[in-house]
Amino acid sequence: MLVFGFEVERADQELLLDLLNTTPTADGVSSDQLGDRTAARAWAETHGGRGSTKELHRVRDVRSALQGVVRGDESPTVLAPYVEGLRYRASATDEGLVWSLEASPHERLATRAVLAWDGLHSKTPGRLRPCANDECTLFLIDRSKANNARWCSMAVCGNRMKARRHYQRQRETR
Ligand SMILES: [Zn+2]
Repeated sequence: MLVFGFEVERADQELLLDLLNTTPTADGVSSDQLGDRTAARAWAETHGGRGSTKELHRVRDVRSALQGVVRGDESPTVLAPYVEGLRYRASATDEGLVWSLEASPHERLATRAVLAWDGLHSKTPGRLRPCANDECTLFLIDRSKANNARWCSMAVCGNRMKARRHYQRQRETR
């Protein structure tokens, strides 16, 4: 049984975003950064996992469920298998009560990703969204005040879309 607390929330948001973004598309070709066993294990270990076969299986499954939910293609009910039997445990410390999630090691990464999604979904709805470039399969968490970020990355999709609009305008004026 592994126990961890609420304070890792921001790290879990990064885990969630990083997980959602492991299926990028470049020049029309999509790839899976968790497709290769060694790469997937390294990815899991970077995010505090162990890289076991069971864990990686669950991580890939929850990834496609979460991608579907964030794109609006799936209902959050597809997340049911990842929250079944979920429990928090309280312990009393000098600081007060500390609430920790109980999860077995192979479930931990997937559960953290789902809980991070829930935190964003309930506290900042719409801030986690797909990149506005329809040829891009990445996602973003918009932390700007104006809530008007559209691209996974200004350097990649932002500039590409700007260039495309510029090209279209030039063609229209010709
Ligand atoms: Zn993008």
